[in-house]
Amino acid sequence: MAYCRGEAQVSGRLARLRAGLRERGADAILVFGLENMRYLSGFTGDSGAVLISETAAVLITDFRYVEQAREEAPGFRIVKHDDFFETLAGEVRGLGLRSLAYEGDKVSVRRFARLQEVLPEVSWVDQNGLVEGLRAVKDEEELKFIAEAAAIADQAFTHILQYVREGVTEREIALELEWYLKRHSEGPAFTTIVASGPRGALPHAQPTDKELRRGELVVLDWGAVVNGYHSDMTRTVAVGAADARSREIYEIVLRAQLAGLEAVRPGRCGREVDAVAREVIAAAGYGEYFGHGLGHGVGLAIHEDPPRLSPRGESLLAANMVVTVEPGIYLPGFGGVRIEDLVVVTDEGARRLSQSPKDLMIVG
Ligand code: ZN
Ligand code: ZN
Repeated sequence: MAYCRGEAQVSGRLARLRAGLRERGADAILVFGLENMRYLSGFTGDSGAVLISETAAVLITDFRYVEQAREEAPGFRIVKHDDFFETLAGEVRGLGLRSLAYEGDKVSVRRFARLQEVLPEVSWVDQNGLVEGLRAVKDEEELKFIAEAAAIADQAFTHILQYVREGVTEREIALELEWYLKRHSEGPAFTTIVASGPRGALPHAQPTDKELRRGELVVLDWGAVVNGYHSDMTRTVAVGAADARSREIYEIVLRAQLAGLEAVRPGRCGREVDAVAREVIAAAGYGEYFGHGLGHGVGLAIHEDPPRLSPRGESLLAANMVVTVEPGIYLPGFGGVRIEDLVVVTDEGARRLSQSPKDLMIVG
């Protein structure tokens, strides 16, 4: 059968999903997670659910989204509900489904109780990462969107460098970055991090009214969104000057980052890649100051797992996965350095999507 482009992609995804359902012994899957729903159906609305069995693909939503669902999810039968649970129960019975996979990490206890109440005859199986596993390996179109989002983030860095100088506040820089990301993409991929001086020792610091001072390191972490796909990158720059200690930790983090990039390749276990970069930092005596994982998957969500590069990363890397490589050193009372690139796993290793330079920049 011939499909137009969007439908072919969804149809390939559904075939892989159905194979996974057969393996798990489930008749169908009920999906509420917005990214999972979008991935499987194309629907970008933020209310509804999809039900996919061996033969049926149904999208249940309310009247606000019916037209949009028809346009975005042409391969699905669109069902409008007044009472979601009653409508779902009718569909499940109509299709004769007896066992349903569901997203154990997304369905609230209250919602699960209601599902069991309206469908007492159904047995429920946790899908346990089935859809997330499919999402981990990107297709050509997804890679194109992510590369575009990474390119916009690179341009945003060039743009923001003009604003980084003594006396400007973290918030002003974050706002300028977010303005740029809104202007050139669907918006910031997450709340932009701008952390200067001692605040850089907090890996997830939110921007404050603190002014940048000469000699401080500034950690900037941001990303763009293109067609729902995210990018993620971090650069650390020095304001006006950098002392010996700043240069020292910067060089160590950069070496760790390059070693981590070098270690990315298909068939490698997430924790092995993490260990390569972690070892560089530990050997330099800063092991205890790198307290987070080396990287994470990126796609329709900013943090995807699998893949996960961390001491607890048990999944294998495969070609066309997209991961970040982002080691850091955080010294309480002094400051921090993090350098993060977004890369695609290729047959040979990794291709960097983030292109911005990584040598220590003294700006302002
Ligand atoms: Zn980041
Ligand atoms: Zn990240």
